[in-house]
Amino acid sequence: RVSLTGARFDNSYARLPERFFARLPPTPVAHPHLLALNADLAVQLGLDPQALAAAPDWMAGNALPEGAEPLAQAYAGHQFGGFVPQLGDGRAILLGELIPPAGGRVDLQLKGAGPTPWSRRGDGRAWIGPVLREYLVSEAMAALGVPTTRALAAMGTGEMVARGRGLPGAVLVRVAASHLRVGTFEYFAARGDTEALAMLTEHALARHYPDRDPPGDTPAARLLHAVTDAQARLVARWMALGFVHGVMNTDNCAISGETIDYGPCAFLDAYHPDTVFSSIDATGRYAWGQQPQMALWNLAQLASALLPLMGADGVARANAALAGFAPLYQSEWLRHFGARIGLAEPTPEDRALIETLLSRMARLGADFTRVFAGLADGSARAEFADPAAFDAWAQDWRARLRQGTGADPEAVMAAANPRRIPRNHRIKAVIEAAVTGDMAPFERLHAALSAPFEDRAEWDDLALPPSPDERVTQTFCG
Ligand code: AMP
Ligand code: MG
Ligand code: MG
Repeated sequence: RVSLTGARFDNSYARLPERFFARLPPTPVAHPHLLALNADLAVQLGLDPQALAAAPDWMAGNALPEGAEPLAQAYAGHQFGGFVPQLGDGRAILLGELIPPAGGRVDLQLKGAGPTPWSRRGDGRAWIGPVLREYLVSEAMAALGVPTTRALAAMGTGEMVARGRGLPGAVLVRVAASHLRVGTFEYFAARGDTEALAMLTEHALARHYPDRDPPGDTPAARLLHAVTDAQARLVARWMALGFVHGVMNTDNCAISGETIDYGPCAFLDAYHPDTVFSSIDATGRYAWGQQPQMALWNLAQLASALLPLMGADGVARANAALAGFAPLYQSEWLRHFGARIGLAEPTPEDRALIETLLSRMARLGADFTRVFAGLADGSARAEFADPAAFDAWAQDWRARLRQGTGADPEAVMAAANPRRIPRNHRIKAVIEAAVTGDMAPFERLHAALSAPFEDRAEWDDLALPPSPDERVTQTFCG
């Protein structure tokens, strides 16, 4: 056991019945070493970055922090539409819930920490590729203001993992509001374990939605309402940033409303709503433009899992909760995309203006991030293969801005339009360097993504779209 300066654990999940999890420690690795440490996040959590860097071995699973009660969580899930009654943490160990001095409660989890009873044929490990990808993308999302799990550290293991070829192993130290998933509820629903479902519901409400309305409703209906709202808000954020999650299975859909389980995720370069990156998404189920429908589909699975707790008129209550998704999603979509074109208070009529821009971007393959970032200074025009298509739109747009917007459009756009997003080809280059032991490209990209709205000449190259030979069209689960 190691004592972490500033760390206090209170493990409420470990106090749930034993059938919620399997207790086991991480499997130690041969040569633990720090690849990356998120000092800012450490400080936010009340941990001492210097102390973490001086004694990092526990973050690879080679020791346990004082107060940790390690376990792997049970869950089920719909994967690409098909139900799998038993998934569970196959390579992740929850160390416990850290209570930061400033208040709150976060899960501390080691991803890639060795086999568990749910590993099936997997090795329980991760290689540095997906670990650094999740680190970079989740931290970029946090800097962009999107609810997300965080990366506290990436640890090298000094072991190779077999992924076709041998690749260096790594462990991600992940921080999350919790790791409760839609699939956690499905796990107990599939077993007819209504008692566990009720306990899980109370646990989730207490942890994430302690004062949710409507007070007269059943706890399960209140939870469904709350998660529906959180997911509608979340997916609207993803859409407005051009983010494609890639594997929106119900086991990757967090009850907290955070983005979770970054696998083959990617940001759009050239915009098209049908864009898919994930190598395993053969049908385009999780294409960029499908994400709101898929989020609602996942919420319907949560609703059916919760039905046994929702009483005689449960179906009506569930439908009432799910019916809240579309209007909230639509208004959030309008708010976020409105801000991207400089409208602090967009009206429903502005939707058509935004949709016209998007459809011209799609037709001409314009770069999603650069079009919006270039609206204020006029450089957006150059992103269109046929600039006249942009000019016609820009005339209507300027006319709209002249009608008054309630706030300075330039300021609104500056706060809504990132200069830099984690582009696929940049992540690929970071990973290739890291495999050879060079973490400098990672550090540089990480720094540039931590201040995505700042214009900084030294990072201009990181704002560029890929050249034709740099384009990465497929991403992998790892
Ligand atoms: P994911 O696609 O990462 O959401 O994972 C889906 C399921 O596969 C989860 O139950 C994971 O724990 C499990 N899994 C993924 N990779 C591995 C691995 N290398 N070893 C064991 N289990 C894994
Ligand atoms: Mg157990
Ligand atoms: Mg997962």
